[in-house]
Amino acid sequence: MKNIVSRQIVLAKRPHGNAQCSDFDIVSTALPAPAEGQVVIRNSLISLDPYQRNLMGNAASELPPIDIGQAMPGPAVGVVQVSRNDKFAVGDTVVSWSGWQEYALSNGDDLQKIDASAAPLSTALGVLGHTGLTAWVGLNKFLEPKPGGTFVVTAAAGSVGSIVAQLAKLQGQHVVGIAGGPDKVRYLKEELGLDDAVDYKAPDFCEKLARALPDGLDTLFDNVGGSMFEALMPHFNMKAQIVICGTIAQYGFPGAAEGPNRLPELLKAFLYRFVEIRSFALPDHFDSMPAFLAEVTPLVAQGKIKYSEHFVDGFDTIPYAFLKLFDGRNTGKLIARVASAESAGQ
Ligand code: NAP
Repeated sequence: MKNIVSRQIVLAKRPHGNAQCSDFDIVSTALPAPAEGQVVIRNSLISLDPYQRNLMGNAASELPPIDIGQAMPGPAVGVVQVSRNDKFAVGDTVVSWSGWQEYALSNGDDLQKIDASAAPLSTALGVLGHTGLTAWVGLNKFLEPKPGGTFVVTAAAGSVGSIVAQLAKLQGQHVVGIAGGPDKVRYLKEELGLDDAVDYKAPDFCEKLARALPDGLDTLFDNVGGSMFEALMPHFNMKAQIVICGTIAQYGFPGAAEGPNRLPELLKAFLYRFVEIRSFALPDHFDSMPAFLAEVTPLVAQGKIKYSEHFVDGFDTIPYAFLKLFDGRNTGKLIARVASAESAGQ
């Protein structure tokens, strides 16, 4: 094997508030030769995900942060270049957890082979990958279907939100999406066929929300938290079920939010409206991947579940592109293309 020099995007410093490009460094390192049992992967597609802000530290999450100087971890699609592991052959296309690096070494434990001819490779990071699985797990393992009930999704034009909204619609629920800006609202109603959608950036958001929820809400799939959750609290119906999938509005802000204390109102909703709140962490549910793929792959192939992907090109663009997740400049799954399929060996 010729010597491989691989670029990595590493954490340079811990952010205060939202992440910035200057929180990252790009470094080049010589990849060690693979040991017995290891493979070398060349990444072509790298997933950019909100939870990566939590891994940077000074975050609202309770996830342990990565070390300064460590490459940002996360899902990526790549091709095996060298194999010293019987389970993987040179040329296999895999999803790994190798993160923001051009080449990676793996012992195979984090690898999942994918069929490059079955669906576009990028779908393995989105609708048929970890974000689709997140939507499916949250819906099927943590919520009871309530046909005819009102199902609200926040960050509804995003990777997780857009899939859960469509799956809930297929269950016969009345689905209302919340997203930032008129283009996303149009996308949710006209392309994804949601029953209604509300722009939370509009000055009259609360009035629009009240008009979209004349009968309150029975289910909330929340990706946002913060003031979005507070705006929805008055609409919780009796026995409303809520799943907290994410709290992206809070990730950079570990302290208490400014403004009035709404905790008493939330406790009243628990006590008098018997509201139930649940949460989950995807890594506890990776074993659901086969059941999820068996159900959702045909729905995608038949066009019953639509998906949107937002590509950025080039390894160097990753830090800047990552920031899009936190101000809504992405629609659907955000993915960096870092090598052409041909050059990665696909
Ligand atoms: P995404 O929705 O594709 O992208 C993030 C979106 O969040 C942005 O496009 C933006 O859309 C919205 N957003 C960002 N900051 C906001 C704010 N302050 N207020 C309101 N909306 C804001 O990302 P994703 O990958 O699908 O993840 C969605 C959520 O699921 C995240 O909270 C993530 O952490 C969570 N998640 C949880 C698990 C789990 O295991 N529980 C697994 C995967 C993901 P707008 O333009 O609409 O503002």
